[in-house]
Amino acid sequence: MLEARQLTKEYRSGDSRLAVLRDVNFTVPDGAFVAIVGPSGSGKTTLLGLLAGLDLPTSGSVHMDGTDLSALSEDRRAQLRGAKVGFVFQSFQLIPTLTALENVQVPLELRGDDGAPARARELLTRVGLGDRAHHFPNQLSGGEQQRVAIARAFSNAPRLLFADEPTGNLDSDTGAHIVELLETLNRESGTTIVLVTHDLGLAGRAQRIIRLADGVVVSDAPTTAVSDAPTTAASDAPTSGGTPPAVVALAR
Ligand code: ADP
Ligand code: MG
Repeated sequence: MLEARQLTKEYRSGDSRLAVLRDVNFTVPDGAFVAIVGPSGSGKTTLLGLLAGLDLPTSGSVHMDGTDLSALSEDRRAQLRGAKVGFVFQSFQLIPTLTALENVQVPLELRGDDGAPARARELLTRVGLGDRAHHFPNQLSGGEQQRVAIARAFSNAPRLLFADEPTGNLDSDTGAHIVELLETLNRESGTTIVLVTHDLGLAGRAQRIIRLADGVVVSDAPTTAVSDAPTTAASDAPTSGGTPPAVVALAR
């Protein structure tokens, strides 16, 4: 479970202080799929950084499975992230000189995982890219690069996945496929997903939408009405219908 309590973040510039987040409160239960939406500059990226323990609040707290992240040393926070957290960014952030397979393998090897190559291949297959393992990022479409980034983010079988505008550089159909993939991974692996997006249509695929404006939560509600909406996915989409194969193994 992830809890934000009275979360406040201020930045100083000279004598003045700018409150980027103010008294943010919410709880994300294990296994949830939550979207955070809000205009540019409303504090979404700052909030994700605090929730993930990359940055510390000015006041208030984030509790990850009952642990107050502010009470941990930087090293312990890094350990906790390594054990529990995955990230996906708008800009994919793949290493350009490494193949898709190698990009997914890197974090596994850093952890000393003996089965890294096999595991990386399994992860790529899970995101529908088993046949692109030896492509370099510039030989992949934006959507494919984001799938590689998602496979990489799942390499530590995270309990929590944070995605900051993961569809921001993709056309709307491709973006919809990426959110569908995240939804499938959430459902099949039980990984809690916190997704930041500008796109309300995509946010509607989450179970719940938290809206930010000027650093304040202005609404927080389930997306029940949207769940029956027809999918925007094309019929040949790799993630439509019963695919990808059981992603349960990702959570091992
Ligand atoms: P969003 O992701 O919703 O676009 P951000 O969280 O990136 O918003 O930024 C929220 C506000 O905080 C913006 O006004 C931004 O300029 C400001 N901000 C973000 N990071 C810093 C920083 N390191 N120092 C000062 N101001 C910052
Ligand atoms: Mg942002």
